[in-house]
Amino acid sequence: MSGVLIVGAGLAGSLAALALRAARPGLPVTLLDAAPGPSDRHTWSFHHPDLPPVWRDRLAPGLRASWSLQEVRFPDHGRVLEAGYASLDGRGLAQLVAGSGATTLWSRTAAEVLAHAVTLSGGTRLTADAVLDARGLRPSRHLVAGYQKFVGVEYEMDAPHGVICPLIMDAKVPQLDGYRFVYLLPFSPTRLLIEDTRYSDGAGLAEPDLIAAITDYAAVHGWQGREVRRERGVLPIALAHDAAGFWAAQDGAVPIGLRAGLFHPVTGYSLPVAVQVADVIAAADPTTAAIRAAVRDFALRKAHGDRFLRLLNRMLFRGCAPDERRRVLSRFYRLPEPLIERFYAGRLTTLDKLRIVTGKPPIPIRDALPCLPESPLLKDAR
Ligand SMILES: Cc1cc2nc3c(=O)[nH]c(=O)nc-3n(C[C@H](O)[C@H](O)[C@H](O)COP(=O)(O)OP(=O)(O)OC[C@H]3O[C@@H](n4cnc5c(N)ncnc54)[C@H](O)[C@@H]3O)c2cc1C
Repeated sequence: MSGVLIVGAGLAGSLAALALRAARPGLPVTLLDAAPGPSDRHTWSFHHPDLPPVWRDRLAPGLRASWSLQEVRFPDHGRVLEAGYASLDGRGLAQLVAGSGATTLWSRTAAEVLAHAVTLSGGTRLTADAVLDARGLRPSRHLVAGYQKFVGVEYEMDAPHGVICPLIMDAKVPQLDGYRFVYLLPFSPTRLLIEDTRYSDGAGLAEPDLIAAITDYAAVHGWQGREVRRERGVLPIALAHDAAGFWAAQDGAVPIGLRAGLFHPVTGYSLPVAVQVADVIAAADPTTAAIRAAVRDFALRKAHGDRFLRLLNRMLFRGCAPDERRRVLSRFYRLPEPLIERFYAGRLTTLDKLRIVTGKPPIPIRDALPCLPESPLLKDAR
C-alpha cells in the first residue's frame, strides 16, 4: 500500500487524515481502528479562538453544537465569557474523514506498528510510505502527571432545562477528591450533558460516586430525565515532561496525539494541539522519516513553551492542598478574558505569564519555591 497509514481513528488520527487529504488530494490515506465504528463515548469540545479559521470551517459541517458564549461559576464570583465554544462527536468526525476521501477500516486491531508496516491481530500485514501511531494514551516514564477525572451523563430531560450556554466550570459544588467542578453542555432545550470532574492526585475513577454526584446535581436543579449516553475519562495533567527523552527513543512509526504527550498540560484537552500537529504532518513529505522529524521538532518546541503551564500544575498539585485548588482557579478566572483565551489556546505571552504570577501569586511564595524545578519529579519517576 502506498500513502499514509494511520493506526487509530480517534481524534489525532482523524484530524491528521483531514489535513493530509486537504493538502494532497491525491494521497491515499487509510485509518485502522480496533473499535467497530465511531465512538459515541467522546464529546470533543474547543473554544472558538483555539482554532484558526480554516480549521473552524473544516470542522463546521461535523459539529454537534456551537455556542456563542460560555460561563464559569465560583462561590465568590461568576462570569459569562464571550468566546464561543463548540463540540464534535465521533460520528461527526468520522463523517468528515469519509468526506475527505480517506478510508477508515474499523474492527482492525494493530498487533505490531512499525515505521513502514502494521501487522493486524489476525496476521495481515499492511505496508505504507508513512505510518502514524495514534492509538491514544500510553503511560510513559517521560511524563509525570496529576489527573483530571470525569464522568459525563447525557440526559433527555422531561422538560426544558433552561441552560442556554455551556457552563464550563460550576465550582460552587462541594469540593471532593481535589478540585471538583460540574460541566454542562446544553445540546438542545431538553438535552443536557452533565459532567462531574475532579483534579486529583490519583488516577482511580470511582464511577458510581461520580454518577451519584451527577444525580444529586440534577435533582438540586429540579431536572428529571432519562440517561441516553455516558462518557468517562482520566486525562493526564502534566507536572513534568521530558519530551527530548521521549523523542530520542522514537525510531518507528510516528507517535501523535496523547500517545506523544501532545495535549494541553493544564486542561488535558488535545483538540487544539492535534490540529496544529495535523498541519505539521500535512506540510511534510509523506514519509515516516520526514513526518517524524517535523512532528518531533514541533513537539520539542511545544514542550519547551509549555514549561510555565507545567509549573502552574506543580503549584496546583504539589504546592497547594487539594481543598485550596478551587481558590487558585477562582482567582485565575478573574483575569482579562483575552488572557484566558490565550491560556486555553496554549498561546500565553510573557506578559500574560507575569500577570498570572505577580500581584497576588496563585500560592504563597514559600509554597511555590519547591515547585520550581521540574527534573526531580522525572528522576523520581525512573
Ligand atoms: C470522554 C472524553 C472527553 C474528552 N473531551 C475533550 C474535549 O472536550 N476537548 C479536548 O480537546 N479533549 C478532550 N478529551 C481529551 C483528548 O482530546 C481525547 O482523549 C482525545 O480523544 C485523544 O486523542 P487521541 O487521538 O490521542 O486518542 P483517541 O481519540 O483515544 O484515539 C485512539 C484510537 O486508537 C484506537 N486504538 C487503540 N489501540 C488500537 C490498536 N491496537 N489497533 C487499532 N486501533 C487502536 C482506539 O480505538 C481509538 O479510536 C476528552 C477525553 C475523553 C476520554
